[in-house]
Amino acid sequence: MAATTEAKRKGELKMLETARYFFDEAAKKLKLEDSLIELLRYPKRRLIVNFPVRMDNGKVMNFEGYRVQCHPVLGPGKGGIRYHPDTTLDEVEALAVLMNWKCAVAGLPFSGAKGGVRCNPKEMSVGELERLTRRYAAEIAPIIGPDVDIPAPDVYTSSREMAWIVDTISMHHNGEFMPGLVTGKPILLGGSLGRETATARGGFFCTLEALKHLNMKLEGATVAIQGFGNAGSYYAQFVQEAGAKIIAISDSKGGIYNSKGLDYKAVLAFKKETGTVVGFKGADKITNEELLELQCDILAPSALEDQLHERNAPKVKAKVICELANGPTTKEADAILHERNIFVIPDILANAGGVTVSYFEWVQDRYRYFWDAERVDERLKIFMTEAFKRVLDMHLKHKVDMRTAAFMTAVSRVAEAARARGMYP
Ligand code: GLU
Repeated sequence: MAATTEAKRKGELKMLETARYFFDEAAKKLKLEDSLIELLRYPKRRLIVNFPVRMDNGKVMNFEGYRVQCHPVLGPGKGGIRYHPDTTLDEVEALAVLMNWKCAVAGLPFSGAKGGVRCNPKEMSVGELERLTRRYAAEIAPIIGPDVDIPAPDVYTSSREMAWIVDTISMHHNGEFMPGLVTGKPILLGGSLGRETATARGGFFCTLEALKHLNMKLEGATVAIQGFGNAGSYYAQFVQEAGAKIIAISDSKGGIYNSKGLDYKAVLAFKKETGTVVGFKGADKITNEELLELQCDILAPSALEDQLHERNAPKVKAKVICELANGPTTKEADAILHERNIFVIPDILANAGGVTVSYFEWVQDRYRYFWDAERVDERLKIFMTEAFKRVLDMHLKHKVDMRTAAFMTAVSRVAEAARARGMYP
């Protein structure tokens, strides 16, 4: 993932450009009126906060954080918070825009939002992370709320950070407990069963639908997974349990390959012990770049953005790409993959399972009645399968690639709602 880091440093992140490009394509195809194009192309609000945190050594360090919100046409803002040393306002804006279209594709009553703090969580203690999270929460407090904008976990944040955020904001409100303020919380604090596995499970349902459409079988199919965090590791579990053969897995330190197959459980146990998949016995060492070009049936980029670009897209050999990461493919790469007949399940569809179960969590929090895991997974399957069908229908009807089809599905839904709402004043 070094390539992304380098590009971000140089300010060459492609993700925002890609998100805007596909919005423009969809708007053109849908013949959207100019006023709506101008409104929906840009977010409503971009907040930058700069704040101090006391570190364990007694010194004070300043951090920069962001929260970006799209126009709240379909409902309150929704989207995760990421902690990463290379996070920028542009990246957070691109991710907020992707959330906007993702919520619309999935048929959720939310608009897009995203947050981030530029920090290196791998080099911070739990205490430092808690102080950073609480202060960041206080900084963005004026613009979040259960009916305004509802954060969630993203890269390097989890239920732990969500609990700190709920606790901090409730302290600002006389202790009033507000579970609907964030999703992805611990179960005891109003989290939902099935939230942790949701992104991967949603991607798995999309994979099943894609294979059905392509007349392929998951049993015996070969799978390469880039990224072994929440999304990548559970996706590995689901495809392996369904009979697929995982031939490669990677994380930020590198990858491993075995044409005879890797057992996700053994790799997970190894990573828990050593902090990386690299060095796993019985596998060859490969780079993240090599993993993307492997001969396989399914490739699942599940790490960071801009991984598939114009230089490696011509070398991709997978038949299906399931984008569990946000923005892993640049627009140039997307055109090449389409041209080469590689079936792409675009991020705003493939990874919408996470925010879909976040929606279920928010619903459960509102009426303080909690579903069992079967109910969550069953409802997720219905939402994901329907979303996939909507996008596939658009793809077949308008003869456009799957990403354009997903954007068209999303943009038409938001545009219709915007027209119905009209304009204030
Ligand atoms: N961070 C996740 C995403 O990118 C989930 C967001 C949410 O649940 O609100 O889709």
